[in-house]
Amino acid sequence: KNEEERGGKRRWGWAAIGAVLMVLVAISITSKYTKNPNSCQCAQVKLWCDCPFWPDDGMCKLRDCSVCECPETEFPELFKKPSQYALPSDDLKCQEGKPEAAVDRTLDSKAFRGWMEVDNPWTNDDETDNSEMTYVNLLLNPERYTGYTGPSARRIWDAVYSENCPQYASGESCQEKKVLYKLISGLHSSISIHIASDYLLDEAKSLWGKNLDLMYDRVLRYPDRVRNLYFTYLFVLRAVTKAKNYLEQAEYETGNHDEDLKAQSLIRQLLYNPKLQAACPLPFDEAKLWQGQSGPELKQQIQKQFRNISALMDCVGCEKCRLWGKLQVLGLGTALKILFSVDGHSQSNQPLQLQRNEVIALVNLLNRLSESIKFVQEVSPSIEKKMDGL
Ligand code: FAD
Repeated sequence: KNEEERGGKRRWGWAAIGAVLMVLVAISITSKYTKNPNSCQCAQVKLWCDCPFWPDDGMCKLRDCSVCECPETEFPELFKKPSQYALPSDDLKCQEGKPEAAVDRTLDSKAFRGWMEVDNPWTNDDETDNSEMTYVNLLLNPERYTGYTGPSARRIWDAVYSENCPQYASGESCQEKKVLYKLISGLHSSISIHIASDYLLDEAKSLWGKNLDLMYDRVLRYPDRVRNLYFTYLFVLRAVTKAKNYLEQAEYETGNHDEDLKAQSLIRQLLYNPKLQAACPLPFDEAKLWQGQSGPELKQQIQKQFRNISALMDCVGCEKCRLWGKLQVLGLGTALKILFSVDGHSQSNQPLQLQRNEVIALVNLLNRLSESIKFVQEVSPSIEKKMDGL
């Protein structure tokens, strides 16, 4: 009964954190949207980079694979060219095929004032160079089933696991090696859960819904994949908690006073959520990692592996999958940076400095993971019932 009560409390805690995150993600951290009543949540992403490992193996041709860039009317007010202020408001339009959408890059430094331009040592993209970045409205491009499957998708996951984070042997005692595998496996579980929870059930009728069989086949029937999902969630939550002071004081200005205040208030609600500590046991003590003689070398090796994984995201042959893959890997890279590369960690005396994009990626990743956990908790009883009936 105690375990049940604790489980109930934990679920409540996660639900509360998830709810704050959902609102936080839904209101724009990055963007202002005044003319169009639909909310916009723009993220800056480098979407069109060449795959550094093999020639392009064909883009996904399905409609659901493609990404709509933000139309000009959706750009955060601070990012627009002055002449565009007067543009009439359009309906939401897809700007596919126009990677160099009309953003005045010189304004980035103004809009991003107060935010650092520092490269993240865990990721492949150079975060200080945003010349090739495009703005994407995440609300118009939800993470869901796209039809991207077969050899291209398989090649990415194979390269991720076999070359960069092999599953550790059962006797493996090196915590650091386990961490990378668990993080990637947890992210993979989360991606699969989002595919299954927003699946194209009937193409002819354009009917979308939950595909419980897929969720079971890909994730739920493997307890370790579910455990790794929880691990990744706790890891990211731990990073957010550690960056509390920085996140609280960061500049969320977009030009829309009301939304900016709301974003600040929601960030505070997330950071000071009393359930946060109570509901979340520490996944591990990060201060104990990278110790010993081989610590620095091991850290370099694992950092290189993660950078490779981040580079592999440019090989994902489906725009929308690449968008979410890159965003979430940047979120994980940000969590790794917070926990392992800044002040407070034994080998580093650098103070924490985050880019605006890193914060966006971190919060969105936490949202994706908490949504996945919510789905797992929602569907598990009905799946158990279904299995009992077999
Ligand atoms: P896959 O999911 O491709 O898995 C490949 C193999 O990895 C499995 O056979 C298993 O051995 C192992 N594996 C699976 N899950 C785990 C886990 N949690 N932990 C450890 N090992 C595991 N498709 C979409 O429809 N929408 C998307 O948004 C999307 N985003 C993607 C993002 C990225 C970065 C990548 C690489 C792919 C994405 N895909 C997306 C494709 C999707 O992930 C699958 O590859 C595809 O649906 C085919 O699935 P599958 O059954 O072959 O198994």
